Parts: sequence; structure tokens; C-alpha cells
Amino acid sequence: MDDKSSKIAIIGAGVVGMTVAKILQRDLRNANISILADAFTQDTVSCVAAGIFRPGTSFRGPTKEVTKKWIDESWYFWQDIIKTSEAQNAGLMTLSSYIFSKENYHVTRNHLIEKLVPVYRPVDEDELKLCGEGWKYGSYFSTIKIGCDKYLPWVEKSFTENGGKIVRERIDNFASLRSEFDLVFNCTGMGAKALCNDYDLVPLRGQVIKVRVPSLKMAFYGDYDTYVIPGLDGVATLGGVRQYDSYNREVCKHDTAAILERCYELLPFLKKSEIVAEKVGLRPHRVPVRVEPEIIDGVKVVHCYGHGGYGVMCAPGTALDAVQMGCDMLKSNIRSKI
Ligand SMILES: Cc1cc2nc3c(=O)[nH]c(=O)nc-3n(C[C@H](O)[C@H](O)[C@H](O)COP(=O)(O)OP(=O)(O)OC[C@H]3O[C@@H](n4cnc5c(N)ncnc54)[C@H](O)[C@@H]3O)c2cc1C
Repeated sequence: MDDKSSKIAIIGAGVVGMTVAKILQRDLRNANISILADAFTQDTVSCVAAGIFRPGTSFRGPTKEVTKKWIDESWYFWQDIIKTSEAQNAGLMTLSSYIFSKENYHVTRNHLIEKLVPVYRPVDEDELKLCGEGWKYGSYFSTIKIGCDKYLPWVEKSFTENGGKIVRERIDNFASLRSEFDLVFNCTGMGAKALCNDYDLVPLRGQVIKVRVPSLKMAFYGDYDTYVIPGLDGVATLGGVRQYDSYNREVCKHDTAAILERCYELLPFLKKSEIVAEKVGLRPHRVPVRVEPEIIDGVKVVHCYGHGGYGVMCAPGTALDAVQMGCDMLKSNIRSKI
């Protein structure tokens, strides 16, 4: 496709916007691409996330088939990077994990990835005692983790080296971009609520505690959204909470106390680890995740937002679909000019 004259904007520099940028630059080598955003790297929700590849079983695209395709394609996108010498620079690591429950067998299963990841199996009696007494159900699985504190700068570097432009700017409406761009990708996460007046997009507030624990090499999950996920730099993420429709961006001391109590019960040795940061993020929750084209005020827009608690792992699958939709829109643009 002749993309020389195409001017494309991506609104949003979180994991979704940056992944769209990476795929666009690969597929439309000559296009003139800009990322417009009012927050970058550490100030995005993407950098609050631990970034583990483990979708909630309620994660939903428009159909079951599309959901599965997004998850599978995301997995293979990350695998292509993890196999290279760039994996660490890109913030990627392989990770084994235990998930335990005292109450519910189903939380230890995950039909969306059980056949995709290298290992997903029930635990044996000895493994059930790894995190103290009382655990009735458990699974062991191997997966990956994407640390956005490294992934976002890694994409940004290659994006600008390949001619991409980055602009710090808040966009209040699509019409303001009409004269400058042929196509706009809307990757604004929770920002889409105001930009699109989208009542289906709801914040799912999360809070995490980052602790220094270099000896920890595996992830552990317990009941009530309790998790401990190690990172590349010896800093683990402890969580969490999921507060529906809460816009509170401040750290809540009661949430901190509850998270620490649950994580210390799961892994008592964590009591000795230093707390290095506490973070809050509003997950952009929407059912289904919105990946679709729309013409707004004469501007060709492809939406890609609403990934909830699974946007890091699933950004590539959704971005691939969004880029395909954008290319189709550009082609129809070219035809309409003939
Ligand atoms: C505590 C917590 C734990 C999580 N754990 C995981 C996990 O383990 N695995 C996983 O896959 N996911 C996880 N998530 C979910 C994940 O973080 C989100 O789904 C993902 O970050 C969404 O990415 P995004 O790019 O859509 O949004 P964001 O990262 O919020 O980026 C949005 C971008 O849009 C820009 N923007 C918004 N509005 C405008 C505007 N009007 N004008 C200009 N720019 C605008 C912002 O500045 C920003 O650059 C977690 C989230 C939280 C809070």
C-alpha cells in the first residue's frame, strides 16, 4: 500500500498507544506518525500494573472468538520479543506462578490460557502447603510478565529513531485533529470517558505496593485479589484492590494495610522487605473492550480502549486489529480521492 502521504495520530502513550505505534510503524513504513498524549511512562496507568500475562476469565472482546484471538496473538507478539536479546531492555521476563484458593476451585483455573502457556496444571498435596495451612485448591502455571517501566521507553526510543513524532498535548475533541491527520487512533484508556462521552467505561480502582525482594523468583496468588509478582529489577508488586466506579487517585492507608496483611499471610518473609513505592491506577474497565472504527466530526478514528485489568498483556492482539481497521480506513480514503 502507498502510505507516503498518510498522516496518522495516536492519542495515548500507555501500553496500548505505544503498541499501536510499534505495529503501525512496522506495517506502514512511510507513514508520518505522531503520538499525542498528556502523560507518559511513569504517569500512565500502564506503569502501575505488574503486567503479568494472566487474563481474568471475564475479559471480553465482542465475541468469544475475537477474545481468544486477541489473547493468542498477544502471547505470540510477546514471545517474538522474549526470544531476542532485547527481551530485558523491553521489560519482558518469563515467570512461574502459583494460584491458591481456600474457597473456590474455579479461580485456580483459566480456560483462556490453559492451552496456550507452556505449563498449566493442578498442584499436588505438598505444593498446597507452600503458603501455609488451609489452601484447598491450587494451580501452577508458567507465563510471562511485561514491565511497562521498561517497555514504554523501549518502544518510544525505536519509534522516534524511525521518524515518529511525540507531542505532549491534551486532546479535548477529535475535530481539532481534522485538518492535520488522515487517521486517528484513540488509545486514551480512561481518558476516553470524556473524549467519547462513553458511559460504558468505568474506572476499576487499583492500588499496589512495590517492595524490594530480589530473592523472589515466582508469582503467588491467594484469595480476595491477593498477589505478589516479582519484577526484573528485584522489586515485586503486592496487591491488590478492585474498586468499581472509584475515581480516587490517592493512596488509601486502609488499602495499604489490607494488602500488606493479606500478602504477609501468603508469604510471611515479605515482612522484612523494604517498601519502595505505593501506586494507584484506574483500570479502564469496559465490556466489551472497544476496538472499532468510527467517523467523528469528519475524522477517521479507530478506538482501542477499555482493556480493564488486562491491557498490558492484551495490548498487542487488540492493536493488531486496530491497525488493520486503520489500514482499511486509509484504503477507503485513497479510493474516495480517485
Ligand atoms: C493495580 C493494577 C494492576 C494491573 N495489573 C495488570 C496486569 O498484571 N496485567 C495486565 O495486562 N494489565 C494490568 N493492569 C491493567 C493495565 O494497567 C491497563 O489495562 C492498561 O495499562 C491500559 O493501558 P492504556 O494504554 O489503555 O491506558 P493508560 O496507560 O492509562 O494510557 C492512556 C494514555 O492516554 C493519554 N490520554 C488520555 N486521555 C487523553 C487526552 N484527552 N488527550 C491526550 N492524551 C490522553 C494518557 O496521557 C496516557 O498516555 C493493571 C492495572 C492496575 C491499575
